[in-house]
Amino acid sequence: MSQTFALAIHGGAGTIRRSDLTPEIEQATHAGLLRALEAGSAILRDGGSALDAVTAAVCALEDEPLFNAGRGAVFTSAGRQEMDAAVMNGADRRAGAVAGLFGPRNPIRAARAVMEGSPHVMMIGEAAARIAQEAGLPFEEASYFFTQKRWDALQETLALRARGETSSDAAVRHGTVGAVACDLNGNLAAATSTGGMTGKAPGRVGDTPVIGAGTLADDICAVSGTGHGEVFIRYGAAAEIAARMRHLGESLDAAADHVVHRVLAPNDGSGGLVAVDRHGNVALPFNSEGMYRGYVRSGKAPVTAIY
Ligand code: ASP
Repeated sequence: MSQTFALAIHGGAGTIRRSDLTPEIEQATHAGLLRALEAGSAILRDGGSALDAVTAAVCALEDEPLFNAGRGAVFTSAGRQEMDAAVMNGADRRAGAVAGLFGPRNPIRAARAVMEGSPHVMMIGEAAARIAQEAGLPFEEASYFFTQKRWDALQETLALRARGETSSDAAVRHGTVGAVACDLNGNLAAATSTGGMTGKAPGRVGDTPVIGAGTLADDICAVSGTGHGEVFIRYGAAAEIAARMRHLGESLDAAADHVVHRVLAPNDGSGGLVAVDRHGNVALPFNSEGMYRGYVRSGKAPVTAIY
């Protein structure tokens, strides 16, 4: 027993303009992050696994329409929602991922069903939904996932695109939710879930379900990313952090900072990530203006922040 548990979460990174953040939305955002921290830390406090804790925390974030995952996911250029999610257990490197998914209320539970109920790591579209169905997971209609805010963001993106422009507000274009945890046994897990980027091409898959890019857990660290997915994939962002710790002996903080500020930032990779190591240290670096985030460690009060 390491006697210490830690849980860190994010609800997406981007240009979160203070002028757009009304006191009501700000309060609701902190409350949503706190609910997720409570859902995950209750499991860790009782001696539960990091895997169960990150699943519970991400489910809570998916259920909150303020964040771009599950309910409240962004729309593709065709006006549909295609969700990506992944979960990974550090101790044995088991992993499950889904891409282009629509239907299951909690895509992260579908990813976990792939991990636990199939011999595969990644499943897409209808075949992924079928695994969720066979696992008995709850499904929802399109009206459950719809939010006016995300629909309006799509119309704005399409109008800009028609004029040959792109939105400067990254928070409107994307977002993601994620969680990483270290349990009382020192085991690590990571989970990430997203609707992707507003106006993405149908069929586009981001970094979230790509193990080693947006999601990774091994015996050294667990990482969940948010940001410009294509860059996270091209630089293998999460795996790079684990490799720096393993081969260079860097601390979690140093490795995570290096990847966010020196690998991603100079290469058009705006965003951030949350990470935890097996000693319960947490890192929450980002190179964008803000990142919805929070963490809690055993015996301490939970902390949430936006900027
Ligand atoms: N990384 C996500 C994606 O590219 C989006 C985000 O986190 O903002 O799908």
